[in-house]
Amino acid sequence: MKSRQTTYNRALEIVEDICIGCSHCMKVCPTEALRVSAGKAGIHADWCIDCGECYRVCPTRAIRVMDDDFKQIFNYKYRVLLVPSVFFAQFKDSIPRETIYNIIGELGFTEVCAVEQSVDTLVGEINEYLKTCEKPAISSFCPAVIRLIQVRFPSLVDNIMKLLPPIEITAQYYKRRFEQSGVDEGEYGIFYLTPCIAKIAAVKSPVGGYTSPITGVINMDFFFNKVYLAYKQRVPITTSIIINGELSSIGVLFPSTGGESSNINGRTLAIDGMKNVIDFLELLENEEIPDVDFLEIRACDESCAGGILSHRNRFLTAESLRKYSTKVPEAHNLIDEYKRTCSAVVHMDKIEPRSMVKYDKDIELAIKKMESARRLKTILPGIDCGACGAPSCEALAEDIVRDQANVNSCIFLRTIFEKRGEISLEDTIKIMEDIWGKERFDKSEE
Ligand code: SF4
Ligand code: SF4
Repeated sequence: MKSRQTTYNRALEIVEDICIGCSHCMKVCPTEALRVSAGKAGIHADWCIDCGECYRVCPTRAIRVMDDDFKQIFNYKYRVLLVPSVFFAQFKDSIPRETIYNIIGELGFTEVCAVEQSVDTLVGEINEYLKTCEKPAISSFCPAVIRLIQVRFPSLVDNIMKLLPPIEITAQYYKRRFEQSGVDEGEYGIFYLTPCIAKIAAVKSPVGGYTSPITGVINMDFFFNKVYLAYKQRVPITTSIIINGELSSIGVLFPSTGGESSNINGRTLAIDGMKNVIDFLELLENEEIPDVDFLEIRACDESCAGGILSHRNRFLTAESLRKYSTKVPEAHNLIDEYKRTCSAVVHMDKIEPRSMVKYDKDIELAIKKMESARRLKTILPGIDCGACGAPSCEALAEDIVRDQANVNSCIFLRTIFEKRGEISLEDTIKIMEDIWGKERFDKSEE
């Protein structure tokens, strides 16, 4: 089954030849974006939030990250790599940062910059923003959380802070710097090294009416292996690289759980891990969380230390960040330059929900279909067995009203129809083959 819609850029794809249709991915998807049909999984692009939960559980590595080709960096004269602090925490603490920077230069970049340099300034902007915004404000740092709210908790979209995350402010700082020094747009490429796939999608399809100046996104797991191999092979350093790596302790810790909320005024909470996030957003939606000013919400356990493209164990990564934060100053030297860029670019527009697209782009029709799905759900067995190729009875009801499935797909209803003589055994077998693939049934007969 091919992906169904492509309104939004996605950062994952399923390689059909490798997929065995086991449905492990379908069972963990927090937005029910996956279905199994003809024995293969397929992602519904409009509902996928690029959290990577499916990628973590796929036993055959059939899910591929759609990152940018590393070789494209050589299309540019000036090649800047924006590096998040979790990247350095992938290496043993005994490997000097200077060595890692030099290898990055040897691999082709002309300048390297620590992404979280913009954080010191952003913290001040968030505290200003909190004085006038709707409470609680939800951090805009984690793109998977933003997308989760758009798809599953639309009533909370107005709580998402309308401020850009650190990577975009740092990228804007570089864009401005190149423009001011008269470098043509075609001559420079700004690349981001990502610990998670949600940031790939966020750069390509940003929210809040924003366009990112980031040229390409490099997979951190892939790049870590490249750098580590060069380190092990003691590749000689023959090129020089501009290093803009100074970070404050706030910047180093910002991508860790609590690293953002601990710098924000008022009552703040930090929530991480997809299950905790969903449980918490349900409480928030039901107005069971009063008097909170700011919520740091991150989709991965241990925040970016647990990103799916993070190579090292998440707890060791988080420990390494904590250790490094004690060795750096409280502010970095470029803070004034960032302040000027930040206040000029930091605001974004309102973020729109995506949930109604589930039924129809026409709102009136969407409401009618939603009502039909609700009625249909009451006649389905409600045990979410997944034998229909959808993750839950509710998801099957939605698929039926969208004409993407049939009531006969439900194994329980089909048994009733069979008993009444309304459907034959051959039809039943054909339906199961359509969902789970003919080969699976041939095998079981051997
Ligand atoms: S987890 Fe999903 S993508 Fe991976 S093999 Fe199973 S059905 Fe296919
Ligand atoms: S990335 Fe997340 S939302 Fe998208 S299909 Fe996988 S589990 Fe579902």
